Amino acid sequence: MTATSPAPARIAPEESLDAFREDRVYLGADHRRNERRTWIVAGITVVALAAQIVGGLMFNSMALIAGGLHNAAHVAALLVAALAYRLARRYASDPRFSFGTGKLGYLAGFANAVVLAFTALLIAAESVERLIVPEEVAYTEALWLAAAGLVLSIVCMLILKPAGHAHPRDRDLNLSAVHLHLSADAIVSGLAIAGLLAGRALGWSWADPLAGLAGAALVAHFALSLVRQASGVLLDVNPSPTLAAEIRSRLAAEGERILDLHLWQLGPDHHAAIVVIAADDPRPAEAYRARLAGLPGLTHLTIEVRGA
Ligand SMILES: [Zn+2]
Repeated sequence: MTATSPAPARIAPEESLDAFREDRVYLGADHRRNERRTWIVAGITVVALAAQIVGGLMFNSMALIAGGLHNAAHVAALLVAALAYRLARRYASDPRFSFGTGKLGYLAGFANAVVLAFTALLIAAESVERLIVPEEVAYTEALWLAAAGLVLSIVCMLILKPAGHAHPRDRDLNLSAVHLHLSADAIVSGLAIAGLLAGRALGWSWADPLAGLAGAALVAHFALSLVRQASGVLLDVNPSPTLAAEIRSRLAAEGERILDLHLWQLGPDHHAAIVVIAADDPRPAEAYRARLAGLPGLTHLTIEVRGA
């Protein structure tokens, strides 16, 4: 601040700051709903984990303990997701976050997707090993475990299902990441059941590891698509060429030229844009702003108008 700085605008500084703060909440419409459900599923998973550990120790079952390790990874992933919701809400109005905390869920989703990709690698490596050197499988016990895993995954998936109204493009990626993980688990359990049944009935010892390999490929596919989507948002990749084109055409309606257009995502269903317009007969910024009224999800807009 220097002594020559311009006089304050008609709005008192504190008032204008408050207005900014309100402007900075870019959380998804279903934030609270999704947060609550993530905590519920985390609770269910902790109970399942405890049951697996107690059962594994009681029956001295390695399969139960191995399943417990997988479930411990679920608890960690769900905690990351739930804490991201919690922190995004806690700091939603904190002015240190220049564009709000709407991206926190994408950061959590990215982290969970990377872990999921490594899970796929581990399953694939274990399956290849078992294809080469077949191991003795306790089919009946393994079948029961896979069935229990399948039921658990489906129940958690149903709880974590995204709200029906969410547009696929604007979906809450934090929720999608855990939901996709559970879908992948359900499919892997289903494949495992098929492989185990084939192994038990027909003696095909390769069926179970082959099912594991197919499951790993699927999990990897899900994980990489999540990594791509989350990193796109984290790196401010243009989230919608259609929306960008619509902004351009509306702002250039009277022969204006769009010198610069930045469009990026701030959170689920929240987009920001910075536009520089050149016009022979420049109008006030408000007039241009009005041309963009009603565009879905465009919640933060900065317009600069230059004379030609
Ligand atoms: Zn899993």
